[in-house]
Amino acid sequence: MTPTPARDIRDAAALLASATDVTILGHIRPDADALGSALALGRALRQRGAKVRVSFGEPDEAPESLRWLDEDGLLTHPDDLPAAEPLLVCVDTPTPKRLGRLAGRVETAGAVLVVDHHATNTFYGTCHVVDETAEASAILVFRLLDELGTVLDEPIARGIYAGIVTDTSGFRRASPETHRMAARLIEAGVDAEAVVRRIVDERPFAWLPMLSSVLSEARLEREAAQGKGFVHAVVRVDLAETVRAEEVESVVDVVRSVREAAVAAVLKQDLANPAQWQISLRSIGLDVSAVAAEFGGGGHRQAAGCTIPGTAEEVLAGLRAALERAPLL
Ligand code: 5GP
Ligand code: MN
Repeated sequence: MTPTPARDIRDAAALLASATDVTILGHIRPDADALGSALALGRALRQRGAKVRVSFGEPDEAPESLRWLDEDGLLTHPDDLPAAEPLLVCVDTPTPKRLGRLAGRVETAGAVLVVDHHATNTFYGTCHVVDETAEASAILVFRLLDELGTVLDEPIARGIYAGIVTDTSGFRRASPETHRMAARLIEAGVDAEAVVRRIVDERPFAWLPMLSSVLSEARLEREAAQGKGFVHAVVRVDLAETVRAEEVESVVDVVRSVREAAVAAVLKQDLANPAQWQISLRSIGLDVSAVAAEFGGGGHRQAAGCTIPGTAEEVLAGLRAALERAPLL
């Protein structure tokens, strides 16, 4: 896939420039890239006079660590969305399935703009800004804002910065051009230290005992993943219930540090349905989006996810087998 042609940006910006009523959706269990992108774009469109709402299919509330990105009260519960929308914008969402309960809105909307950086995007809209070379969807939103002539204020810049800093793991995977974009965001007033502290670093105390318990049962399988090593940990509901979703999501960032394993997995038992597990996969040696795809999930080659039913042992057996078949990076 080649970088987004300037024409795609122009077409999408023209659609946004004429919009008077816009609903912006992120994927289920939204992260900082999905919500930061949606809220930054939403604020810019509201400043242009459009009626704007931002929503996502589940859970009912945004992660606590991201709610402060919603400077304008744009976040709207799915039940409070209009019956159908003239313009739907889907950010960071490669397939309608990742909209969860809101997937049907793609069919009923007048126009659908898809802004995304997943290689697996299925081009399900009527207009697309899809570019897998962008490190974050927020980068594509930034390009759209520039095309619209948006003057960056601090809240808009903060949303974009939140998406970029998290999806690049703190600028480790950021191109020179992305660093130049970040410089503009900081010039617009973003407090980079505060963004990272509030979204990435800060944890409630309950995180420590949860992490301690989960990590004490982590396992390393040196021969697995085609000999590249596989490390995994399991977060059962009884422990997940002691912390926020953010703490459960953070476990994989610790587990992936293990040097002897190219692939890390965290099995997160589903709070609503403990008979299934949400899986976070991270890799520096194998294409884990192919592994996730075997179970109906997706993501990026080095960071992917899926949902798998069964016991933890059954899920691990399935992952082990899929890792033996995964393409090398
Ligand atoms: P995480 O492990 O942080 O939840 O997800 C890592 C990456 O995989 C993200 O790009 C996320 O969007 C994607 N991902 C996670 N779960 C799923 C899933 O069930 N389906 C798809 N298509 N992508 C997923
Ligand atoms: Mn993203």
